[in-house]
Amino acid sequence: MTLQSKIGSAAADAAAILERLGVPAERWTGGARAVHSPVTGETLGQVHDTDAAGVAAAVEAAHAAFLAWRNVPAPRRGELVRLFGEELRAAKTDLAALVTLEAGKIVSEAQGEVQEMIDICDYAVGLSRQLFGLTLATERPDHRMMETWHPLGVVGVISAFNFPVAVWSWNACLALVCGDPVVWKPSEKTPLTALAVQALFERAAARFGDAPADLSTVVLGGREVGEALVDHPKVPLVSATGSTAMGRAVGPRLAARFARSLLELGGNNAAIVAPTADLDLTLRGVAFAAMGTAGQRCTTLRRLFVHDSLYDAFLPRLKAAYGSVRVGDPRQAGTLVGPLIDEGSLAAMQRALDEARAAGGQVTGGGEVEVAGCGGTYVRPALVEMPSQAGPVVRETFAPILYVMRYSDLEQAIALQNDVPQGLSSSIFTNDIREAELFVSPRGSDCGIANINIGPSGAEIGGAFGGEKETGGGREAGSDSWKAYMRRATNTVNYGRTLPLAQGVSFDL
Ligand code: NAD
Repeated sequence: MTLQSKIGSAAADAAAILERLGVPAERWTGGARAVHSPVTGETLGQVHDTDAAGVAAAVEAAHAAFLAWRNVPAPRRGELVRLFGEELRAAKTDLAALVTLEAGKIVSEAQGEVQEMIDICDYAVGLSRQLFGLTLATERPDHRMMETWHPLGVVGVISAFNFPVAVWSWNACLALVCGDPVVWKPSEKTPLTALAVQALFERAAARFGDAPADLSTVVLGGREVGEALVDHPKVPLVSATGSTAMGRAVGPRLAARFARSLLELGGNNAAIVAPTADLDLTLRGVAFAAMGTAGQRCTTLRRLFVHDSLYDAFLPRLKAAYGSVRVGDPRQAGTLVGPLIDEGSLAAMQRALDEARAAGGQVTGGGEVEVAGCGGTYVRPALVEMPSQAGPVVRETFAPILYVMRYSDLEQAIALQNDVPQGLSSSIFTNDIREAELFVSPRGSDCGIANINIGPSGAEIGGAFGGEKETGGGREAGSDSWKAYMRRATNTVNYGRTLPLAQGVSFDL
């Protein structure tokens, strides 16, 4: 029996949700680009790609919105985001179900993704009253020096398939309270969720009343559409989330026209299991981080360094978890691992496993297709014991493969952890305070995220999110990430009657 006949048609369910959320049918039917569900393989919609003129028109319209929106007081801008958060709360179940159908996430992860959007709305509303600058000491008498933060302009957002809605909201909610409209190019694999979010945003804008038109727009298509956004002179910032290959193309193009880039690229995240680790907690942390989202998170755990003293106790437990985890239809209760996004991911996974075997790796389970013939690509996650960090271990394969290696010396393990081109997320499991502090010290993890007794995936929006090296260096969501969406001005005010020059320079006429 196929998955489709067991639970119901993904296409019919998606159509009903799109209708309920108010997405006009002409936006997702009749176009040349077919959208497939990774759950059942069904075609969910036929969207229309935006041509170059359409992208230019979207940016011009957003720029016109910017000229008005920048004058609206920031707390009032926050009110629009508050209303959007209300729309998300009301539509959470539907939008999450659409994330499941289009991106293949299990129900609780899809709901978590929408919850993350709601969380960033709340955060941005608070932020809208806290976009503060500094008063700085000036060397001149009767002077005051301060910095002020102003809206920047149109923000382009390019997003990946695996967080089809949350990544946009991290950027858009902050951009909107900072005074910037947003033009969004979602992944060509997940355009329907983007259209649904846009419809919810339009509802919020209508309730707001006097918001300028085109504060948020969606342009659809592949790489060329992203490039048109990247090259447009009226887009001063592009926040691009995706593979390192994408960032390598986008970064220099933006730099060539002195535009800002916020790059959130691939990761190759590691965890260290130290001698004092709580093994029950570690097992759960490792299992979720490595197998959750079917290994398709930028923060997925891909490399595990286990201390010699507990390797033989821990590995059998981990193998048992890999053998028993339920792989299957993400709509079904009890499923923990849903489908890969497409067959290309399976091919990449199998290539990496072949390379690992050639480099001396012992592949335990994994890699084989489960639930065959249902239209989706379902695989059991793979656990690979490697003799050393070589071959496919040093690159990101966007699939559920965990490479496990032994270590005996913590400083060496940290050095190995850092010895990959990517620098997104990392963890140590330990109850030894010296080890924990070393890990987060200047000579510890070199990643943008370094956790203790938590796996590397599943960040909260309150912290700045992003990574170093080939992960791109961008930071979004919490902390002071908002500064990326504003321009800073230093203002010096002379309230005296003389004109003392800085550094004691005299220029007497
Ligand atoms: P991808 O690079 O194939 O595509 C991402 C987006 O970039 C898509 O919208 C795509 O159309 C666009 N794009 C691709 N090439 C482009 C170009 N030259 N110019 C402009 N736009 C271009 O990535 P994917 O397969 O959708 O997602 C998986 C990757 O994303 C993984 O590497 C994962 O680690 C990464 N990712 C990173 C983060 C993060 O925050 N660091 C978050 C999610 C995903």
